[in-house]
Amino acid sequence: MDDRLNSKEFDAIIVGSGPGGATVARELSKRKKKVLILERGGSVPLKEGFLPNESNFNVVPVSDDLATARVFTPGGTTAIYFAVTGFPSVETFLSMGVDISKELDETKKELPLAILPDELLGAQTIKLRESATELGYAWKKNPMLVDISKCPFGYTYDAKWNARSYLQQAVEGGATLITQARVLKVLVEKGRAIGVEYKLKNGKTESEILQVFATRIILAAGASASPIILRDSGIKSVVNSGFYCCPSFALFGMISGPGAGDTFIGSMGAECEDGIALGDANPARNVYRMFMFGNRRFARAFFHSKSIGVAVKIMEGLGGGLQEDGRYYKRLEKEDLKKLEKGEEAARRIIQNAGGKRIFKSRMSAGQMGGTIRIKKHLDENLQTEYSNLHVCDGAVIPENVKVPPTLTLVCLGKYLANHLSHIL
Ligand SMILES: Cc1cc2nc3c(=O)[nH]c(=O)nc-3n(C[C@H](O)[C@H](O)[C@H](O)COP(=O)(O)OP(=O)(O)OC[C@H]3O[C@@H](n4cnc5c(N)ncnc54)[C@H](O)[C@@H]3O)c2cc1C
Repeated sequence: MDDRLNSKEFDAIIVGSGPGGATVARELSKRKKKVLILERGGSVPLKEGFLPNESNFNVVPVSDDLATARVFTPGGTTAIYFAVTGFPSVETFLSMGVDISKELDETKKELPLAILPDELLGAQTIKLRESATELGYAWKKNPMLVDISKCPFGYTYDAKWNARSYLQQAVEGGATLITQARVLKVLVEKGRAIGVEYKLKNGKTESEILQVFATRIILAAGASASPIILRDSGIKSVVNSGFYCCPSFALFGMISGPGAGDTFIGSMGAECEDGIALGDANPARNVYRMFMFGNRRFARAFFHSKSIGVAVKIMEGLGGGLQEDGRYYKRLEKEDLKKLEKGEEAARRIIQNAGGKRIFKSRMSAGQMGGTIRIKKHLDENLQTEYSNLHVCDGAVIPENVKVPPTLTLVCLGKYLANHLSHIL
């Protein structure tokens, strides 16, 4: 193990290396701060689909029939995300005392951002646009975190930005990364965070409990993991304090005509009234196959080229919470169920109008979890908890009214927190 671990000389320990953690690590390393990143997952090569990520893939139930997915690996859940993006409302954050305007400008320049040209979209994606537009939906292209210079021959997984690249830059800048290190709790002395306790896996069955110390601790373990670490460190206000999870599902039909190849799922969609979002659900073949297997549609799994899909998502309000036993639970309101029904009708019409037949509805899932640790309720404007020197920077802190995919927002927040910390470390 790295000798520096025993020197207790870190400026910052960052727990988790998804977009939140990797960005803080990169920015602090650039400013020559001594950074330690503790990452629960193992460092496997990144590949398309759920199966290659199986050893690190994890599902968190959030209600009787809803669960959210995450990936334990350097780079976090961006290993399997779709790379759809959007820009957070600066005003929303400003109203909470968090000014990310500068960071947003910087992020827009740094990340690969693209509106995909039609040549990079599959036949089904184009067909859906025609159908939805004909029915009066404002079906628009979404910005994507995709480097189109990597797509001379069409779709490739490697063109999607993921947080591992920022993590790599942090390590190149001098940060220490320890994988297979699961943080259990934050060590606190007189209301001040001083370090963390973590379980380090040594091989398949062996592990040891270790402690490491630093001036600042940043939790970036994800929207479902960070509250549990806070609770186990004595911050009980995160229990039963509500969350959102964006219930979603997709409808899939079969069409004749030109066959679909691999394509970027989510590249287009429409925002409907009532906060119902409809989107293109035509993924790359591997993802499609895994999805069909997960839905027990084994025969369909081999008809990727004939499949046409529309996703339905709603953004519901805060409710439910982390239970005493460490599990999450939330019951959807009647109005949420009505919105989902309305979304299903719309998706069905679009697929049918496109010539889609034999339509089936996938299982519902929790598209995106957040709001578990909130600015103003659990955190101050520097994302600091009630313990001084302890901050949170991951999907947990994104408010429910930031209605864009979270990754780019997390990069902005990571830069914002690093800017603040670099002045005091
Ligand atoms: C199928 C799918 C598609 C998605 N598509 C999009 C999309 O198109 N656009 C978008 O913006 N977002 C998308 N998302 C969501 C996006 O991936 C997440 O919102 C984002 O990765 C959250 O970042 P994070 O830093 O909060 O957490 P994560 O990315 O989950 O990172 C948390 C990290 O912490 C580590 N960790 C967890 N517990 C511990 C612990 N105790 N100790 C140490 N380390 C720990 C984990 O291993 C992980 O590396 C998608 C998600 C899924 C599942």
